[in-house]
Amino acid sequence: MLAFFVAGATLAFNLGRRVPGQPASDEAAPPAGVDLGGSVEPSDSAANAAREARLRRIAQSNTYMAATLTEADSIVRRWVDREGRPLRVYYEPTTVSGVTPALGRAVRDAFARWSRVGGISIDFVVVRAPEEAEVVVRWIDRFGMRRAGQADLVWRSDGVLQRGTLTLATLGPAGRPLTVKEVSTVALHEIGHLIGLGHSDEPRDVMYPTTSVHDLTTRDRRTAMLLYSLPIGSLKAPAGR
Ligand SMILES: [Zn+2]
Repeated sequence: MLAFFVAGATLAFNLGRRVPGQPASDEAAPPAGVDLGGSVEPSDSAANAAREARLRRIAQSNTYMAATLTEADSIVRRWVDREGRPLRVYYEPTTVSGVTPALGRAVRDAFARWSRVGGISIDFVVVRAPEEAEVVVRWIDRFGMRRAGQADLVWRSDGVLQRGTLTLATLGPAGRPLTVKEVSTVALHEIGHLIGLGHSDEPRDVMYPTTSVHDLTTRDRRTAMLLYSLPIGSLKAPAGR
């Protein structure tokens, strides 16, 4: 049985999967006894040791994965490993004035930048039919609040991301048209949420809540790589411990 939740505007998200042979410096080998595969379940104590090892790895990493987990109720939430199947993106036809080809290119370029992060092999492909899409991109004039973009996600109760909507505005909160560079920054940030990332506490990162940087930082990339190297699911302590 699957429960679905729709994330609000504060949720971020991230895409990718680990590429064998490209471990991040803060990655450790998975604890023995965890990845048994098939229907064999590790014992409770082995599962708990694995959970604690993952939490240690997160705590010791130079990333904002810990903050991402806090925003996600301690659930590692991301897309499943795609095995070469790109995420299907649908660009909704728009009549919003001010959506120029240059803005469209900026958004496609933002997707491309995330897809090039080493160690996560999430890629995107444009589809023509909305019913085929996993990710929908739509434009609006402006938000009724201090915001220029928003990522809304749908995930399964176990943390598997299933769908996302990226909403981008052409006007800032005060009604000023956003520049291509500004839209590019907003798109990069919201696509970070779309792949599962939360917020960074470091103003230099794209995933800082009020970022104004124009490209992914090493820490953005490292956090995405760590997210996609962790198994999807809860890292909460079992009840009673
Ligand atoms: Zn955000």
